Amino acid sequence: MNSLPAAAGSSRPEDGETAESPLSIYDLTVAYNRRPVLWDVGVNLPAGRLVGIVGPNGAGKSTLIKAVMDLVPRASGRIHVFGEPYRRQRGRVGYVPQRESVDWDFPVDALDVVTMGLYGQIGWCLPVRRKHREMAREALERVGVADLAHRQISELSGGQQQRTFLARALVQDADLYLMDEPFAAVDAATERAIVDILQDMKARGKTVLVVHHDLQTVPEYFDHVILLNMRVVADGPTADVFTPENLQRTYGGRLTLLDEATEAMRRRERSL
Ligand code: ADP
Repeated sequence: MNSLPAAAGSSRPEDGETAESPLSIYDLTVAYNRRPVLWDVGVNLPAGRLVGIVGPNGAGKSTLIKAVMDLVPRASGRIHVFGEPYRRQRGRVGYVPQRESVDWDFPVDALDVVTMGLYGQIGWCLPVRRKHREMAREALERVGVADLAHRQISELSGGQQQRTFLARALVQDADLYLMDEPFAAVDAATERAIVDILQDMKARGKTVLVVHHDLQTVPEYFDHVILLNMRVVADGPTADVFTPENLQRTYGGRLTLLDEATEAMRRRERSL
């Protein structure tokens, strides 16, 4: 059984957190140029769930994911990954970055990108062995792009690039995955393939935190939702939290999409 870290300093678990809690965030504030973009954020993720982070543009969703990996400085707050600071658990965390944030002109092929996901296991200075290349190839197979293994990543379509990054996350065999808009600008077939992989990850006990934009698919894709707009507006099981009232509080007056969705639901109820 895993023991909790020593009850000292920033490693101290709180509020029902256990060593199995994939991610616990307390009082997190992040500011860029002294302008806060996350304010007093607290989250305790359940294990083995697909969790969506939803909120308007600029709400701080990407920043929250980056803060977990210590990629942005915190003004205040504590973050525990499986009961410890990220630096001690980084091997258990897989990251799928936003596609736009990646330099796709970097001269590597799809197989190289996936193999890089194994560096944590191989070690940066040790040679990549045939078995590692095999593992990478199998992951590409699983996401349906094995035939593109030797294609330069700049020559892949958006959906193929996204699948390649997902394959890289798969070979990492992490326990907590952080994904920044994996569904952005992918075709319907890729979206379906990603959903299947997320479900498979969940079935294997992984916890996946996904920044997501499409409100219509939230109830279908996620068990748990964090509604974010600088602060956590609501956080919990999708059925409890993903309500028109909470969405209104998250998006304010900007919610044409929700109005349409609510109206569509009403029409459906009237026609029954
Ligand atoms: P979201 O992912 O919800 O769209 P972000 O976390 O990307 O939101 O951004 C939150 C806010 O922080 C936005 O106003 C954005 O312009 C700003 N921001 C993001 N990254 C930086 C940065 N590196 N420097 C300054 N401001 C930033």
